[in-house]
Amino acid sequence: MARGIKEYEPVIGLEVHAQLLTASKMFCGCRAEFGAPPNSHTCPVCLGHPGALPVLNKRAVEYAVKMILAVGGEVKFHSVFARKNYFYPDLPKGYQISQYDRPIGMGGKVHIDLKGYSKTISIARIHLEEDAAKLLHPEHGEGVTRIDFNRCGVPLIEIVSKPDIRTPHEARAYLNKMKQVLRYLNICSGDMEKGALRCDANVSLRLRGSEGFGIRTELKNLNSFKAVEKALTYEIERQAEILESGGVVSQATMLWDENRQKTELMRGKEESEDYRYFPEPDLINLEIDEKRIEDIKSSLPELPDVKMNRIVKEYGIPRYDAAVLTDSPELADYFEAVAKGVKDKKLASNWVMVELLRVVRERKADIRSFVVNPEMLAELLQNIESGIISQKMAKEIFEEMVNTGRRAAAIIDEKGLKQITDKDELICTVGIVLNAQKDQVEKYRHGKTGLFEFFVGQVIRETGGKADPRVVRDILKEKLDG
Ligand code: ADP
Ligand code: MG
Ligand code: ZN
Repeated sequence: MARGIKEYEPVIGLEVHAQLLTASKMFCGCRAEFGAPPNSHTCPVCLGHPGALPVLNKRAVEYAVKMILAVGGEVKFHSVFARKNYFYPDLPKGYQISQYDRPIGMGGKVHIDLKGYSKTISIARIHLEEDAAKLLHPEHGEGVTRIDFNRCGVPLIEIVSKPDIRTPHEARAYLNKMKQVLRYLNICSGDMEKGALRCDANVSLRLRGSEGFGIRTELKNLNSFKAVEKALTYEIERQAEILESGGVVSQATMLWDENRQKTELMRGKEESEDYRYFPEPDLINLEIDEKRIEDIKSSLPELPDVKMNRIVKEYGIPRYDAAVLTDSPELADYFEAVAKGVKDKKLASNWVMVELLRVVRERKADIRSFVVNPEMLAELLQNIESGIISQKMAKEIFEEMVNTGRRAAAIIDEKGLKQITDKDELICTVGIVLNAQKDQVEKYRHGKTGLFEFFVGQVIRETGGKADPRVVRDILKEKLDG
């Protein structure tokens, strides 16, 4: 009997690779920067020449420890580098230096927030390894694959989750959380487009309510958040169809084909024995003492969850706002700097989340050096708070600030954009409007009270948009109802 897809529960675990932002590579002095001319950062060590010996990058170890501590994992005092042996053209030594049964980090967890619920995903292990070179496959017309060895030997950490993830959506949220924490720690750019953050997804199905695990496939080549979600969705359906028709999923490594939007078999799943792991004879074991771990711990910045909770409490804004505002540490800093300058914190949060983020994204600008700095935005918002300008005027002024880099006060002066708040002046305008709308006033007095906002609008129009609506309402109430 065929079962519906709803009867199966997906089980997902992610392996996240993060390139570390060290100045030099993992085991040599070559620069680790992205985007240099191909093969300009190479040496005998990272090209795997005979006799060349690796020397461990201390900063890479520090960064790995930061990540382990940030997710509440255990930093191992003693860990071991191992050779993972296989042939591929991007791997000149014929092996990758990685860690195997004695990784530098064990355990830890992160929280993810989803629509309507939140959950905790456990981390199995975090280990250090070196990146391989980058293969540049033929594009239009060319017939050859080229290799850029600049990436070869760049330090990576691999963060392996436990199979706690249950939906493609959760997988995406988890990956986003990883990116966020890495960026807060300033140890990885998190840029998936540039390959600085990469992810393999393992997925299997089991009958809902059962405890055991099904046979899994591993999905590779997931180059964006969207790809992770789409590939998992596709693969879950593919596996469900196999199981529904009474078949068995074969354990395999699959590639996500972005163009065809489907997973393709890459190879049967390799077992760890296939890699002939053995301890790296050219490196001594990695020892870290408690003092060093404590020092690194005390250097950790405020992390995303803590920052979000603090911002909710300190500024009294909704959790949703705080989540958006703490997406990156730069954005959170910007918001806090604005909020310090205004009384109405929700006004600050709205403006940063909506108006500021919109232009920053449009212009792909760096928020830290954005033309409108927090102090300038706060000044604009102060003018709203004191009733000098309306929200609508503020948007116009903000546009001008973004385009010219000038301050709000100067633009307000120059354009004469001040709101009219003077009651006597507005009483006069209200009189003119009510005179011209005698019929409507009659209707209003006979109970059509919905016309009130119409009168407000008319008065504001009469002043070219400058009348302060609060004052206009007060006057209209007196005149119509009083
Ligand atoms: P391997 O040694 O084959 O890489 P690991 O035990 O390191 O296997 O697990 C790799 C990833 O696969 C982890 O993220 C883990 O959570 C996930 N995983 C393990 N078993 C399953 C399963 N049955 N279904 C889905 N994911 C799984
Ligand atoms: Mg693995
Ligand atoms: Zn090198």
